[in-house]
Amino acid sequence: MDQEKHRILKTYFGFTQFRRGQEEIIDALLSGKDVLAVMPTGAGKSLCYQIPALILEGLTVVVSPLISLMKDQVNALSDAGIPAAYLNSSLSPREYADTLAGAARGDYRILYIAPERLRREDMHRLGESLRIPMVVIDEAHCISQWGHDFRPSYLAIAEFIRMFSKRPITAAFTATATGKVREDISRILNLEDPFLLITGFNRENLYFGVERPQDKTQTLLAYVKNHRNKSGIIYCSTRKTVDEICRTLNARGFSAARYHAGLDDQERHKNQDDFIYDRTPVMVATNAFGMGIDKSNVSFVIHYNMPKNIESYYQEAGRAGRDGEAADCILFYSPQDVQVNRFLIANSGDTERDEELVDHNLGLLKYMTYYATTNDCLRSYILGYFGESAPHFCGNCSNCTTQFENNDITIPAQKILSCVYRIEQRGKRFGKLMVINVLKGSKNEKLLSQGLKSLSTYGIMAEIDTHRIRTILDYLIEKEYLAQDGTEYPVLSLGRRWEEILRQKKSLSMMLPKERERKKPTIPANETPGDFREDLFIQLKELRNRLAQKARVPAYIIFSDASLRDMCRKLPETSEQFLSVSGVGAVKMEKYGGIFTDHIKEYVKTSLS
Ligand code: ADP
Ligand code: MG
Repeated sequence: MDQEKHRILKTYFGFTQFRRGQEEIIDALLSGKDVLAVMPTGAGKSLCYQIPALILEGLTVVVSPLISLMKDQVNALSDAGIPAAYLNSSLSPREYADTLAGAARGDYRILYIAPERLRREDMHRLGESLRIPMVVIDEAHCISQWGHDFRPSYLAIAEFIRMFSKRPITAAFTATATGKVREDISRILNLEDPFLLITGFNRENLYFGVERPQDKTQTLLAYVKNHRNKSGIIYCSTRKTVDEICRTLNARGFSAARYHAGLDDQERHKNQDDFIYDRTPVMVATNAFGMGIDKSNVSFVIHYNMPKNIESYYQEAGRAGRDGEAADCILFYSPQDVQVNRFLIANSGDTERDEELVDHNLGLLKYMTYYATTNDCLRSYILGYFGESAPHFCGNCSNCTTQFENNDITIPAQKILSCVYRIEQRGKRFGKLMVINVLKGSKNEKLLSQGLKSLSTYGIMAEIDTHRIRTILDYLIEKEYLAQDGTEYPVLSLGRRWEEILRQKKSLSMMLPKERERKKPTIPANETPGDFREDLFIQLKELRNRLAQKARVPAYIIFSDASLRDMCRKLPETSEQFLSVSGVGAVKMEKYGGIFTDHIKEYVKTSLS
């Protein structure tokens, strides 16, 4: 089995290594366990169920919310030589019946199905004629109304699963789930003691930026101009803004399409396809666009308006850089966005039940607004929001690059450590908050009743911002000058390295947010390094486009940009070398190996010799 999953990974998907979390999930599913996996967009969730589907006997059913997503996945699977199909409303009754019959005959290994199509009779019959070893629920957060994308049709899934006499393994995948949503998924789907995997939410290749442009349109134009030939999405909060921005871009000679719920089906489809097939590099859209768009080479996502919550923001922004290449996620903030959102949320419901939701949503908006206005590291803020601890400085967000500077923290570090030292001398241990309160000279009741006011370190950091003290304190923990443990709740003690500071008087520095006013950040470029063979990359893209047009699939279904880049680096001239390119498996090798290696050989002969 172990061999098998690696073989499939290489043969069908062209990858030599699993990414973080993938193998654990595959193992759990193959051992018959339910799974609940929370992994960020672009982490590679699909593989986690597609590989077991190829190993488990029978037909795996995948419930997925969006038609475009299914079509894409099925295209990609077919292109990799894996028999798959989908059932949704885009099929004619005839096609629908044919697909169902094919599934019953055992023609497919994976069947995607829209939640509103989980019709009892059809599927029941299917379940009787063949084995359904596993049901997968993609975008599983749609099942919870506490998520940001609730779909009532998802509630039918549990009943669907109960219908089979032998219960299939149930696997739920999502990119965004807070504790509450996670509980809902597990409870509503009746997951049985699921293997829970939450990988880090961090996406290292994404740059996060917050801008406060005087003039959003001009700033946007400048950005797009600097990123010609790059594919990107511009999210706006209203249809009207979408129309305006799209018109402005077009008038300035930038190729852009628009997408929102006010357009007719035909235009929406056309615009979406133009974007996916790289005919139009830029998409201007409301949040109606994007779910199920697995386009891998999106190199920027700009939010022209601030979204309603961090979940939506991170999901939308996360559509950038799925291929692992550097990409930008930039939010254009203006205080007015907060007002507009507040209005929209407050007017979204009128029943009693909804009132609770309105409060909940206003709370989420607050966190989004903090993001847009904080001076702290944006990445650590987002990760913290999802319950993950992260270094306070990532070096790849607009705050880290413009708001931080190196600070000598020798004296504050000495003060904090002495404070913990004094408390320990009294045979006591307290949590972070109490230590900070002592340093600040707080009149907190518990502090006074513990007699901590008489400590010599009481009030010695009174003039320093609490948040700053906490940041330094966390850094001291990270670097093991302090330790944090405890059985009931975490308490502080001196760490392994405390003497370096208090005895040896070593000096210490760290990156901290500047204390003065916020500077206007500049937008970074995410250019590829100078030594990259851009000329070959462009040629390979053209070659890929020709093949894609012939096969009538989006270009990235043939090869992702990341694969083309890898070719530019490795310059494969033989089949063997070509197989070593990331994203090249046996089927792709068979189909495209000759064409690409021929081109590369020619390139090497003419351009490099
Ligand atoms: P998700 O559903 O988690 O957002 P996808 O399943 O769409 O992510 O995968 C995102 C991208 O990562 C795809 O282009 C996929 O081919 C690629 N990918 C997945 N697993 C691997 C792997 N083990 N090695 C390299 N690339 C991978
Ligand atoms: Mg996915």
